[in-house]
Amino acid sequence: MSRKTFTHSCGHAGEAFIPGCGYGKQVAYMAEQGEHQPCPACRAKAAQETATAEGLPALEGSDRQIAWAADIRPGMIQQAEQLLHSEVAKLGDRANEPVIAGNLQKARANIERLRAITNAGWWIDNRSLPSKFVLVGRF
Ligand SMILES: [Zn+2]
Repeated sequence: MSRKTFTHSCGHAGEAFIPGCGYGKQVAYMAEQGEHQPCPACRAKAAQETATAEGLPALEGSDRQIAWAADIRPGMIQQAEQLLHSEVAKLGDRANEPVIAGNLQKARANIERLRAITNAGWWIDNRSLPSKFVLVGRF
C-alpha cells in the first residue's frame, strides 16, 4: 500500500493513495501535483463562483466531479455557440428561409438546454460530445 500525505496550495490537507505495493514513485508524483493545486473542495467552491459570475447554473455532484465538470462545461458551450455562429455566417441570407430559420432556432434552444445541465457527472461522461450533436439535440 502506497500512501503519502501533503498540503494543497489552499492549506488543506491532502492524501495520495494507491492500493497495492510498489507505487511509491507514482504516489510521490501525485502528492507533488496535489501540492501545486487547491484541494477538490476549494476547486469546487471556486468553480461554482465562476459559474455564477458567467450566468451558468451551479453544478451538482461530488467536489471532484464539480471541479472537473467546471473545466469541461465552458469550452463545450463555447464550441457549440461558435459552430452555430459559423453555420449562420455560411448560410448568409438563406438563414432567413423558414425551414432553416426554424432549425437555427432549435439549435439555439439546444444550446440553452445544454447550459441548463447541472449534473457534473453528465459533463464528465459527455466531454467528447461533438458540437454538431449539441446543435441537433442529440444529447
Ligand atoms: Zn482547500
